[in-house]
Amino acid sequence: MTDHSGKIFPRPSPETAVYWDACREHKLMIQQCHSCNHFQFYPRIMCTQCMSSEVNWVQASGKAEVLSFTIVRHPVSKAYAEETPYVVALIQLSEGPTLMSNVIECDLETVAIGMPVEVVFENWSEEISIPKFKPAE
Ligand SMILES: [Zn+2]
Repeated sequence: MTDHSGKIFPRPSPETAVYWDACREHKLMIQQCHSCNHFQFYPRIMCTQCMSSEVNWVQASGKAEVLSFTIVRHPVSKAYAEETPYVVALIQLSEGPTLMSNVIECDLETVAIGMPVEVVFENWSEEISIPKFKPAE
């Protein structure tokens, strides 16, 4: 298993605890508004579309596409040296929300805008698993 110590670990907050708990079980959760059905990510206490405070957590399909990306060729610190170069991508989930992640398990040069991808999880510790994306099957 890759050594993830030294990396920048996310720190779950009251707003994001549900999200990180689900990641640990390899489930990607996003919020959906009960009033207008709008999906959103990152988590907020109200709907960004209609301001309703009735936002629920739902499991995302994990299907997504690459909206934009860059290839990081210089590690930001020693902790990331082993996996450099790597792809940092803006991912658009099929439900609509976007998130920053990495595209993994493929040749970097094959990554393209519009590429269909699906979520996979990297276990960094007992508490933290990180959603990443690989080419869709
Ligand atoms: Zn709404």
